[in-house]
Amino acid sequence: MSSSDAWQPYRESVARQAIFLRNPLPPGPGVCFVCRSAAKDGYDVCYPCRTHRDASHLTSDAVVPIAYALKGAQHAHHLATYKFEPPSYSARAALQALSILFLGLHRPCFEQAAGGRLTHAAVVPSTRGRRGVHPLQALLMPSISLPFVSARPGAEYAKDDRTFRGDRFTAPVLPNARVLLLDDTWTTGARAQSLSHTLKSAGARCVITVVLGRHVNGRHDGSKALVEQAKSTAFDIGRCSLDS
Ligand SMILES: [Zn+2]
Ligand SMILES: [Zn+2]
Repeated sequence: MSSSDAWQPYRESVARQAIFLRNPLPPGPGVCFVCRSAAKDGYDVCYPCRTHRDASHLTSDAVVPIAYALKGAQHAHHLATYKFEPPSYSARAALQALSILFLGLHRPCFEQAAGGRLTHAAVVPSTRGRRGVHPLQALLMPSISLPFVSARPGAEYAKDDRTFRGDRFTAPVLPNARVLLLDDTWTTGARAQSLSHTLKSAGARCVITVVLGRHVNGRHDGSKALVEQAKSTAFDIGRCSLDS
């Protein structure tokens, strides 16, 4: 069976989801260069991304949101309920189809941005005291032909701490690794960027971060125009933020 045949059920699932999925907008006036959320006039990045930008922060080389997770909409609902206990199995199936198809189609884009073949995958660990394999890793591990880095929580911070913290996580040594870092929802990005810093401090030469949903609250005045523009175009899984 060719890979395109193997992907057919995923394509069908994504076609059904397309009604509520929205591609991230290209960077430019009003759109953050890093995470594709709303940026204020005169800034190329949003406020949280601005706080991550510091010469001492080893942030991701590229951030690739698969879609916006619009607050209150179906994709955001999937991203919450797939990790409930017990989980929503329909949410799991939808997210698995979306992410496996996206990761398969765009792997050449990630490798071009990384300057070579990816060597490892990692997920941002939970801080809610969940034990065992992270639900996102469980969903994707069978389909990603990369060893997963066992990143773990490091120094303790409040659960709702949304600040870049270079010591929030720990990771084993990773000399010259090119890491595909996966996260479900990017809200401020502080946790993913903190883990990127840890991975690079451990020796990784490159980190490409793929997030299933970039959280956006369309009720915020600053995000209304972005949401309206994102909704004006039909979702296309063939597009990624590395080619726009
Ligand atoms: Zn941003
Ligand atoms: Zn691409």
